Amino acid sequence: MSQETLSIAGFNVSPHHYIGGQRVASGELFDLHCPIDQSLLGRISEGTPAHVDAAILAAQAAYPAWSALTAAERKPYLDRFAAEIGKRADAFCQLESNDAGILLSRMKHGVIPRAMLNITWFAEHALSLQDRPLETEQATHIVRHDPAGVVVIITPWNSPLMLATWKLGPALAAGNTVIIKPPEWAPLTSSLLADCAHAAGLPAGVLNIVQGSGAGTGARLVSDPRLARISFTGSVPTAKWIAQAAGANLVPCSLELGGKSPFIVLEDADIDNAAATGALMYRNAGQVCLAGTRFLVHSDIRDHFVAAMRAYVEKLNIGDPRDIAVEIGPIIHPRQVERVKGFVERALADGAELLWGGKPHPFGAQYFEPTMLTNLRQDSEIVQNEVFGPVLTLQTFDSDAQAIAMANGTDYGLGGVCYGETAHATAIAEQVRTGFIWVNSFGIRDLAAPFGGIKRSGIGREGGDWSFEFFCDVKDVVLPKKPFRASFSHR
Ligand code: NAD
Repeated sequence: MSQETLSIAGFNVSPHHYIGGQRVASGELFDLHCPIDQSLLGRISEGTPAHVDAAILAAQAAYPAWSALTAAERKPYLDRFAAEIGKRADAFCQLESNDAGILLSRMKHGVIPRAMLNITWFAEHALSLQDRPLETEQATHIVRHDPAGVVVIITPWNSPLMLATWKLGPALAAGNTVIIKPPEWAPLTSSLLADCAHAAGLPAGVLNIVQGSGAGTGARLVSDPRLARISFTGSVPTAKWIAQAAGANLVPCSLELGGKSPFIVLEDADIDNAAATGALMYRNAGQVCLAGTRFLVHSDIRDHFVAAMRAYVEKLNIGDPRDIAVEIGPIIHPRQVERVKGFVERALADGAELLWGGKPHPFGAQYFEPTMLTNLRQDSEIVQNEVFGPVLTLQTFDSDAQAIAMANGTDYGLGGVCYGETAHATAIAEQVRTGFIWVNSFGIRDLAAPFGGIKRSGIGREGGDWSFEFFCDVKDVVLPKKPFRASFSHR
């Protein structure tokens, strides 16, 4: 039997689903462990087929009233929802640090304000979606953005709160009702979102949370023909599976997937600045989809760059993410640790050389040293595939054309970083085939800007109007300018 409430670092959180405004316990449970010390955090309700069905029915039942509200009428609910996140900021920080190993400092200063903004910004932005008129010669077109229906949101473990709210904000603001399936390795902050929805007075069924495994609960959810949209962030293999399940029912899906993004350092780069940013790629123990993980460095400055970056990496403070001074925490799960080790072992067996790192870190069982591998072929496994851990690669180039070819030489196309004299770096950035690329910077994000990948890194864009294009049914109501009289010769 599971407990009614888990207490983690002094904060309470329900281990159960949230369906139709009620907590619903399951007879099937799964264990949740802390990645920092492997302690058992609790036993979590697993979504059975009956829970999935109940959540869809609850979301369907809530849809007519919620979708009938105007964006202006929905906004106060969403503003209160965001305020409830703010009131529980300390709990959100501790829960996500304990179940996902995210830095407490990053949660406090980055994720909490952003999670609140993800709700309030889209609630505000939805006001501008109302009935945009389009005048043409023959007609006035009233272009409406109507809510699509019941939306499923599936999130990964590397940034559960940020990604849930990034999808939830526009989905709810547009008038949809939502079911979140949080990651089974880090479900706690999604559960707390249900408490926020409840306290904010969101009508029952507008937001539902069904926890459980991907292969069980997730697969059943995304296979249901009653859905209007599926918004997924996660890995490429899962995305292929979801796209097939969604395709069988012609349910549109948005897929934000992995990356193997280039970090280009041109010969005219500010090397120290590039090296300082380079060390940031180990943030969240390298479990960041948009990190530049493939360093492509001009051979003239290679030794200088390696020395500069090594100096920054040696200073990284690795340890318990709940300590505010720590900069790098654990890897999420023993299975992910094995995956990271396997990549490094195979790369070394294939002739790669270590510039630094390469071994488990003594802080704990789920820690791995920040690692840099070099002497790699473009077609080697570690250059081509996402590791999703603190393991980077470094290759050199001798010309812009070679840098661009190497940057574009994988199946991924999420992001990129390019350091160099601004005009030079911008010209290179324009030729790198990705969804976004930062010039002489990293990680600048704005809710109004498009975010997403090309090639195997995804389908669709999130952010600003792009989120609403996905979560809405765009409808054209056509009013003729001249009286219309039916005739077979009429065109
Ligand atoms: P994953 O694909 O294993 O799991 C993601 C989610 O999908 C989890 O909630 C999981 O339970 C669920 N899931 C798994 N199988 C499913 C199925 N058959 N049907 C429905 N749901 C299913 O990914 P992960 O390991 O949790 O996350 C890491 C991946 O996410 C990396 O590839 C990373 O690059 C990617 N990611 C991408 C972005 C982005 O914005 N592009 C952001 C963060 C993470």
